[in-house]
Amino acid sequence: MKLGIVGLPNVGKSTLFNAITHAGAESANYPFCTIEPNVGVVAVPDERIYKLAEIYNSKKIVPTAIEFYDIAGLVAGASKGEGLGNKFLSHIREVEAIVHVVRCFQNEDVVHVSGGIDPLRDIETINLELMLSDMELLERRLEKSQKLAKNDKSLRLEVEVIKKALQVLEEGKSLRTLDLTDDEAALLRSFNMLSSKPIIYIANISESDVGSEEENPYVNQVKEFAATEGAEVVVVSAEIEEEISQLDEEERKEFLADLGLTESGLDKLVQASYRLLGLISFLTAGEPESRAWTIKRGTPAPQAAGKIHSDIERGFIRAEVIHYDDLMAHGGSMASAREKGLVRIEGKDYIMKDGDVVHFRFNV
Ligand code: GDP
Repeated sequence: MKLGIVGLPNVGKSTLFNAITHAGAESANYPFCTIEPNVGVVAVPDERIYKLAEIYNSKKIVPTAIEFYDIAGLVAGASKGEGLGNKFLSHIREVEAIVHVVRCFQNEDVVHVSGGIDPLRDIETINLELMLSDMELLERRLEKSQKLAKNDKSLRLEVEVIKKALQVLEEGKSLRTLDLTDDEAALLRSFNMLSSKPIIYIANISESDVGSEEENPYVNQVKEFAATEGAEVVVVSAEIEEEISQLDEEERKEFLADLGLTESGLDKLVQASYRLLGLISFLTAGEPESRAWTIKRGTPAPQAAGKIHSDIERGFIRAEVIHYDDLMAHGGSMASAREKGLVRIEGKDYIMKDGDVVHFRFNV
């Protein structure tokens, strides 16, 4: 489950990525400063495991995490090999979803590669490269499929879908705006197109605009555009996020409170990413550790158990489940919740829910 961070040069990708890794990767004021795609791992904020750790006297607290790829250097002309063009497009192909950073901050010292600040032009520039790359692939595929479809009826749906997709692209729209049946959508997914990948737009604003972002006209432009694709927008100030990421927990809370915020932009990004990818967390708790685990929404209990260990999936007998909220409604007392019948015994068909606190029983 990886998300790729893309955007034009000098929009704040590295700054945001630094906030993600706490590491301090090169963030210089010129294009192409990061060449290899870097991976940053960020913990998914979840108060629940801290509460569980108190109840269970856990020695360790282990949050779950998601990964971000820094895919720097995408510029106009990438699909024709400009800049480090095709290399970057192939990196985007490998990620599950895209985080597109758009510059909404003013800073005279930082040049914009295409002149002034214009988020819509920036979004279109990048989206166009993704669409051109998709178009090229689809055109090649259409030619092949049309030939083969003469003798193979099963390819007719494919030809249909490709034609529909090409039409949308020719209208200048991303494939994520395409209305498809489930079968058609599955087929398109198998082509691994770039412009159909789920996307979050990050509006990167100035420090001074934090707390009054509705007054930033650029942010509103990004929101209006995102709405046409059914995409989410997360507003951050990458520079502030980088500062926050260097603070300890206490300082961080104070810093956010001073800005009138309860959560950081990075927290918002992680949560939006989780939603975008259709992910949920189930929880395990005990004296050794309290821990959150990531699964796709709709995952049955044995496969969820497999996240912990393949042996537990293989030898799965049953899951003892209580929802976190039910446990807390009983003051965190498992005994009292059990008495009320709130600890359920679930079998292999049980579909896990976000916030399930689980104990798996299995044969070794
Ligand atoms: P990248 O090329 O997209 O990776 O952009 P960088 O992260 O290297 O940022 C380019 C420049 O913009 C750096 O000098 C950053 O300090 C500056 N910058 C990034 N984010 C912000 C921000 O939120 N506010 C301001 N004022 N400057 C920023």
